[in-house]
Amino acid sequence: MENLRVLELYSGIGGMHYALTESGVAAKVVAAVDVNNTANEIYKHNFPNTPLLPKTIEGMTLDDFNKLAFDMILMSPPCQPFTRIGLQGDISDPRTKSFLYILDLLPRLIKLPRFILLENVKGFETSSARDSLVKTLKECGYSYQELMVSPTCLGMPNSRLRYFMIAKAPPGSFSFHTTSEIQEGFPHPAHKVLLEPSSPISPSPTTTAYQEEDHKEDEGGILFKLERAQDAERKSSQNRDQSLRQIRVYLEDQGEGEMEQYLLPPKTLLRYALLMDIVRPTCRRSVCFTKGYGHYVEGTGSVLQSCMETDMEAAFKSPEHLSDEEKLQQLSKLKLRYFSPREIANLMGFPKHFTIPKNISTKQQYRVLGNSLNVHVVARLIELLVS
Ligand code: SAH
Repeated sequence: MENLRVLELYSGIGGMHYALTESGVAAKVVAAVDVNNTANEIYKHNFPNTPLLPKTIEGMTLDDFNKLAFDMILMSPPCQPFTRIGLQGDISDPRTKSFLYILDLLPRLIKLPRFILLENVKGFETSSARDSLVKTLKECGYSYQELMVSPTCLGMPNSRLRYFMIAKAPPGSFSFHTTSEIQEGFPHPAHKVLLEPSSPISPSPTTTAYQEEDHKEDEGGILFKLERAQDAERKSSQNRDQSLRQIRVYLEDQGEGEMEQYLLPPKTLLRYALLMDIVRPTCRRSVCFTKGYGHYVEGTGSVLQSCMETDMEAAFKSPEHLSDEEKLQQLSKLKLRYFSPREIANLMGFPKHFTIPKNISTKQQYRVLGNSLNVHVVARLIELLVS
């Protein structure tokens, strides 16, 4: 097959591009489009040979699109209009305008792209933007499947449940049975492949240090003040799930000094300790990292307990009887730290050769990574789409 010509819209730091490469499909990104300067700088740094258009999508004309003569669109439109924490402005949110513009343009292209893949947050499936997408695809005769997939389906210890639409132009059809329902997880025939990801991450040399901890995780764990019993149960059952890898596989093999910059500052410890989602290197779970990570603590991603010798239970014992200073002393023993941007990139399936230019601040790195996607998940979806 000749190289597919791929248009990467809302390209960010290139999560889709990495997924395309990982999928093994013979393809070339003919243009990537994004307005964000930081993301664009990172994209260019990693894909110097890909034409990157630093402009708005709605600033491109039908003619511009036709000239690119693309066979595939990979896109992750801005998700803020659809997130539960956002205002859910949906199609009235100005950030949805460019997406509606693409939908308007699609039927008018000289040649319909053979393949379309769209990624968005959970919440998109109930939006009017999704209804418009389905309507447009139907009108153009596409076969399609909607899915909700999290990287945990691939054995990765990170939740990032996302909505996906994969669509094939007529006369294309899928190798699996499509339904009008949203599929949870990958469709069946692909499942076998999934359990053995094509590029397993080799355990770091620190592996043995944690090995004997294996099954003890969270047993008899304490209930955090704001954690319901069923949450605690869910977490410990995830930590026992052998189909998920341990967090430590994804950690940087750096000296302690190097990671000190990621330790939680005292103020944050005191204020948010009971709200944080704390994981240990032996855990098999972590919550979704979002763009506010490292800045806002609650709900933006897990933090790591890097001192394994300290018992979490002891550190959190009857905090109401302790002075701030004593509390701090207890909590500091856990050496709670943020995951580094590199570790988050690992948990999101970015390859080792993905790098971020040194001048980009840590806060900005968290921001662009939080906006990106799980590369392994999308790679499997591209395989499914094209096969
Ligand atoms: N898939 C990307 C992230 C997508 S996040 C990755 O792997 O990093 C959405 C991106 O859309 C952001 O980078 C944002 O800058 C870009 N964006 C939002 N509105 C846009 C518009 N109207 N035109 C072009 N890019 C836009």
